[in-house]
Amino acid sequence: MDYNSAMETAQLAVPPAIKQVGETLKKAGFESYLVGGCVRDLMISREPKDWDITTNATPEEIQDLFVETFYENTYGTVGVVTESEDPRLKVVEVTPYRVESAYSNARHPDEVRFSKKLTDDLKRRDFTINAIAYDPGSGELVDLHNGREDIKRRVITAVGNPHERFEEDALRMLRAIRLAAELDFAIEAQTASGIAANAPQLAKISKERIRDELTRILMSPRPMQAIYVAQKLSVLRYVLPRLEDGIGCDQNQAHSYDVFEHLLRALQCAADKEWPLEVRLAALLHDVGKPAARQWSEEKNDWTFHGHEVIGARMAREILFDLKFPKEIIERVTSLIRWHMFFSDPDTVTLSAVRRIISNVGKDHIKELLDLRICDRVGTGRPKEQPFRLRKYMSMVDEALRDPISVGMLKIDGLKVMELGQKAGPRVGWILHALLEEVLDEPKKNTPEYLEKRATEMIEMSDDDLKKIGEEGKERKIEEDGAAIQKLRAKHHVS
Ligand code: ATP
Ligand code: MG
Repeated sequence: MDYNSAMETAQLAVPPAIKQVGETLKKAGFESYLVGGCVRDLMISREPKDWDITTNATPEEIQDLFVETFYENTYGTVGVVTESEDPRLKVVEVTPYRVESAYSNARHPDEVRFSKKLTDDLKRRDFTINAIAYDPGSGELVDLHNGREDIKRRVITAVGNPHERFEEDALRMLRAIRLAAELDFAIEAQTASGIAANAPQLAKISKERIRDELTRILMSPRPMQAIYVAQKLSVLRYVLPRLEDGIGCDQNQAHSYDVFEHLLRALQCAADKEWPLEVRLAALLHDVGKPAARQWSEEKNDWTFHGHEVIGARMAREILFDLKFPKEIIERVTSLIRWHMFFSDPDTVTLSAVRRIISNVGKDHIKELLDLRICDRVGTGRPKEQPFRLRKYMSMVDEALRDPISVGMLKIDGLKVMELGQKAGPRVGWILHALLEEVLDEPKKNTPEYLEKRATEMIEMSDDDLKKIGEEGKERKIEEDGAAIQKLRAKHHVS
């Protein structure tokens, strides 16, 4: 089909299995074009995440042409299973040309309407760089919105009127910021002002979709830049509102940046190191409690932030829960934040303290706590942590990992405690915890002989005495947390 006076062509590297799907459609007399992110990615030599074909065939006509298909949605998209063994090429999504129809809720079109014209389909797409159609068979390229020009200039530009397009679908605003971060593109000026004007519409977008875009922003190579942009365009308050409390929140003399910038720099460090989502989230939120915990100290003539890791862990839990992150991620991130101060004071880092911190954070995650420490340090703008100190902490962790750090690693178990004369009930657990407390201090005590002797003595103790030793470590921590939080809540009226 000829859209411009002269047909434009290009040669892009499309895998044969994908090409084949288009050929089948064309042989049956239909039009077929690759479109969207895959064409964009091919043009910048990036590997496409998924493959989309747009066609004038109906969902039923598409299904009739292929041996294996699936069709389980209301958008007309048919999944076509290809001959490829490569999981990335296994499915091509084939969607009939669609027209943009009314959106009354800034989220989903009220109805899906199909069209017979490619031009309609390209018009409804979000950004010009995502609105290029390409037929790998003939090499024909249909670029009615100057997407190639924008790819060259590395800018993200809305198709048509940006205000209207963001009003129709608020998620596009986050997609713009996410694509800019992933591709290292800028957002074109009109498009950016369309975002700033429509940002409040994001309140209508589901938390799950916001979470998914946020996750991609954090996992991109440039999350710091993206969150700055989100803040400037008034989007951040609909994604992570508590982060904005850190803007202009000055820190003590050891820091060059306010809390907000410190958090973004810590996050960027985690991204530069290609660390996983949990570490990136922890880096981004580790000091989120600082604005609420900040107090002026006359004595030090400086700001102090006592308890910020406690209140920060609570706040992070609420933030991540609200964004519907999975429970395991919430647990890991909040535990990293709760203990992120641990490796900051060389005097407190003794071997028995390291054993305790491992028993708190979990042995599979202790390395992440050191990684978070690195992000925190880099995020202050100060020189890197002295490598010798980190190496020393690493070796202490390795050493501590050889010692028993949980009740399950004790050379005695509940059954044995009962054999020694303790009746079944909560006292069995208290005894085991009391024994662990001793072993955390002195791993040498982890022998059946010693533990059985101590257990026999403990069986004679009163409930109160026993609980006191057993729960000592644990309860002390909880009380401290509680007291610190109450004080801060009273002071700042935070929930
Ligand atoms: P990636 O696959 O890397 O996430 P993508 O741009 O391909 O990026 P998809 O979600 O796969 O994103 O969407 C495929 C295409 O569908 C986009 O390139 C765009 O043309 C169109 N599209 C996706 N979401 C929207 C939207 N909210 N509004 C308009 N068009 C959209
Ligand atoms: Mg895609």
